[in-house]
Amino acid sequence: MEKVILIKYGELTTKKGNRNFFISTLTRNIEFMLRSFDVRIEKDRVRMYIYTKKEDMNHVCEILQKVFGLHGIVICYKVETKEEKIEEAVLQLVKETLGHTFKVETKRADKRFPIPSMEYSRKIGGIILKNTDLKVDVHEPDFVVHVEIRPEGTFLYTNEVVGAGGYPVGIQGKGLLMLSGGIDSPVAGYLTLKRGVDLECLYFESPPHTSEEAKNKVLKLASIINEYSGHIKVHIVPFTKLQEAIYKNCPPTYMITIMRRMMYRIAEKVARKRNCKIIVNGESIGQVASQTLESMVVINAVTNMPVIRPVACLDKLEIIELANKIGTYETSILPYEDCCTIFLPKHPVIHPELEKCIQAEAEFDYESLIDECVEKIETISSFDREETEIADLL
Ligand code: ATP
Ligand code: MG
Repeated sequence: MEKVILIKYGELTTKKGNRNFFISTLTRNIEFMLRSFDVRIEKDRVRMYIYTKKEDMNHVCEILQKVFGLHGIVICYKVETKEEKIEEAVLQLVKETLGHTFKVETKRADKRFPIPSMEYSRKIGGIILKNTDLKVDVHEPDFVVHVEIRPEGTFLYTNEVVGAGGYPVGIQGKGLLMLSGGIDSPVAGYLTLKRGVDLECLYFESPPHTSEEAKNKVLKLASIINEYSGHIKVHIVPFTKLQEAIYKNCPPTYMITIMRRMMYRIAEKVARKRNCKIIVNGESIGQVASQTLESMVVINAVTNMPVIRPVACLDKLEIIELANKIGTYETSILPYEDCCTIFLPKHPVIHPELEKCIQAEAEFDYESLIDECVEKIETISSFDREETEIADLL
């Protein structure tokens, strides 16, 4: 009896016109994520089968749970469509499944099999009753025995694991995520990947005001969201000189607003260079002074590139819940400073005026400092497990 992983595509099956592109992108992503395993993939328009070594099944399933575009994952038995083979596999399957009550659901996609679905479900139910202590419960069974009779064979399974949902990463092109060490931006990154947007990340550091630990924390966060992508890059912007110039030249109350305008300007330049269509960040309406609507308007005024803020309308507790779910929370709350906090004025302006920003910025040659930031970017593009372990040693 052969075991195989069956994958249900879910949402993408509804997008008829693009289905081939969806499926080929998804296949490519799965192949990439499973590159260190010995796997064979078969697919058709509604589902995919993944064959791998028995001992790797569970591990492969774990990885698949982080691949967007999958809605259901099941480990099933695949047998020849012969009654005695099916019945033998059913008994093996129920033996491996926890629970006391069951029901059987048969889908007969291959009409060469002579017994109608309902009748066959009853027959299989009878065999299970006769050979085990299990009881039937058609309303609230502990598990359902699925019998799918298809032209390529019969598939039998009980528990379906819920997939990550969303669209395959990459079908929407690429965005540039402003990734800080906080709670919000990794969650914003996760939500964006989920909609099929591939990401590169941008991190602003201001050594010696910000530490190596702060940077490693961001890289660790990147490595966690990379489990949903596989090929995240982090561009590290040396922001010190520009930040010091802001500190020297701008009124204290406007420092954060202007610093964020500079971040957006740099993000846009990097995004264009890296072929990213949008900027993504973890801003949430009203959370801090720079995230009031007035602040957002004045900060956003420096760019025409769409800025997507996936957590804009979530409460902090909702963001924390997601951070816990994806595993970034524990890292995010490590107490390292961010460049946003080191020059934090006592009373940042909550209702900034655009004119005042423009005036303050006219006091120094920020454009050449921005160019220097972009030129001196350092890019980290490998988050293999080993490297993640290094970040673990923090
Ligand atoms: P977070 O929890 O994500 O750090 P926050 O609530 O602390 O967000 P801010 O510090 O104002 O809010 O930052 C808002 C957003 O700006 C962040 O979510 C992130 O997208 C971006 N950002 C802030 N600091 C940096 C940084 N050092 N490098 C890159 N992006 C940053
Ligand atoms: Mg922050």
